[in-house]
Amino acid sequence: MKKPVYTILDCYTDEPAGLGVPPYLGTYPRYLAGKLHPEQVNYITIDDLRLVKNYHNRKPQNEIVTNIKIYNTTNQDIPDILANTTHLVVILGIQTPGKYLSAVPGSMKEVVSLITDLHCKKILTGPGIFGTQLIGGRKAESVPDGIFDEIWNAHFNFKEIKDYALKGAYIVKTIPQKRIIEIETGRGCTFGKCSFCTEPIKNKVEFRDQEDVVEEVKLLHSYGCEFFRLGKATCSLSYKHGDVKELEKLFKPLSELNLKVLHIDNVNPVYVNEERTKLIVKYCTEGNIAAFGVESFDKNVVKENTLNCTPENAYRAIKILNEFGSQRGPSGMPYFLPGINIILGLKGETKETLQENYKWLKKIYDDGLMMRRINIRQVTIFEGTKMNEVGYKYFKKNKRLYFSFRKKIREEIDLPMLQRVIPLGTVLNDVYTETHQGNVTFARQYGTYPIIIGMKGRFPLGEKISVKVTGHMLRSITGEPIAPLQTIPMHEGKRIK
Ligand code: SF4
Repeated sequence: MKKPVYTILDCYTDEPAGLGVPPYLGTYPRYLAGKLHPEQVNYITIDDLRLVKNYHNRKPQNEIVTNIKIYNTTNQDIPDILANTTHLVVILGIQTPGKYLSAVPGSMKEVVSLITDLHCKKILTGPGIFGTQLIGGRKAESVPDGIFDEIWNAHFNFKEIKDYALKGAYIVKTIPQKRIIEIETGRGCTFGKCSFCTEPIKNKVEFRDQEDVVEEVKLLHSYGCEFFRLGKATCSLSYKHGDVKELEKLFKPLSELNLKVLHIDNVNPVYVNEERTKLIVKYCTEGNIAAFGVESFDKNVVKENTLNCTPENAYRAIKILNEFGSQRGPSGMPYFLPGINIILGLKGETKETLQENYKWLKKIYDDGLMMRRINIRQVTIFEGTKMNEVGYKYFKKNKRLYFSFRKKIREEIDLPMLQRVIPLGTVLNDVYTETHQGNVTFARQYGTYPIIIGMKGRFPLGEKISVKVTGHMLRSITGEPIAPLQTIPMHEGKRIK
């Protein structure tokens, strides 16, 4: 009998706790490669498949506008891999859609159109088995009938992951681009009540052992990975229920590996205190952000949706981070700042909700505090959540108010806040050039929510440079390279349709 050949097709994932959209590499492909070991397992991306199917397998060079649909190819012989594949394992699922600078995750519709004619067994896995949606405010796409032979719930326990994470780490060697590696530390939510959230449905609360996390990071580091985010957790500070000794047992050995980037992601503001904040500042690298899932500063919405913190609690946490995390590190960024997530369309939302959100954000600015970014999303509704019973009622009712709300926040808070956080003349180091838009090159640092820098001139992509800040846009900055860089003339590029 022919031996099975598995091919993991990474269509990228983004969920409340866990990012796997490039430049991030999520946990799913690594764990699955480890589970399927010692069978032959290939790793390819949706960009690889698009290149073969939509671009005759020829990657255009130096496009005027970088084509981010085929940016993250693995440079392998994809037709040969597909011809030999007996089992295609599709990883897919966007549940907290965002804007991505250099990647386009696959939608269910797109992926189905790309794989329908492949002659192999097709397996769907990842958060997409519960629904996926690339655009906020739209109903999630569900799994279509008749395409997939099997659905796998890639839900492994931590005993299995101890083994799989190490056995599957090798797939990073097939990825030519630098990636920031998403590392899992725990799952489930110690709070677990927010009306829109799928995490309590998916996972019960449990934590990985420190030794397992450190061993996995060590191995990935030995394979050349330099950037890490302990991001696959609903709250990095509630690791082992926020016990500071346990947190130290996790972060101290990781800091001793001298990683270029060691960041965290989500934080429940309720868990912020002086001791835990100091610990993160001490052991992680600068540019770190605690993404606070505040979701709403309207007390009524907080109550109706059983959200995790009151506006007062969020404000208190923002103050603590500012007190202990605002000094700058060698990369030019402050060590540890808060980020705020707001969701529009939640139950009970009124015109006043938007005013409350503005009022609190303005207060934070007026009080001289720093926030690295405000993320405003429209609710996406998933089955099994309490919001599923409410539907898009509030979203539809208030939709007409969102544009001006966003604009007000961007112009009156984001812009001056950015000028405060990264003032004119700041030098940012370890910045990597990433995409071209005509005569502009976009670049950023590796890390959690790095600021996007637009630079006049077409510079070679993938270069590490230092940049001086020359201006501020609403949510990005402009800069110029400190050292002169060779530029690529415009006429060498071709426009890709
Ligand atoms: S705090 Fe709320 S949004 Fe965050 S993971 Fe828990 S239930 Fe979900």
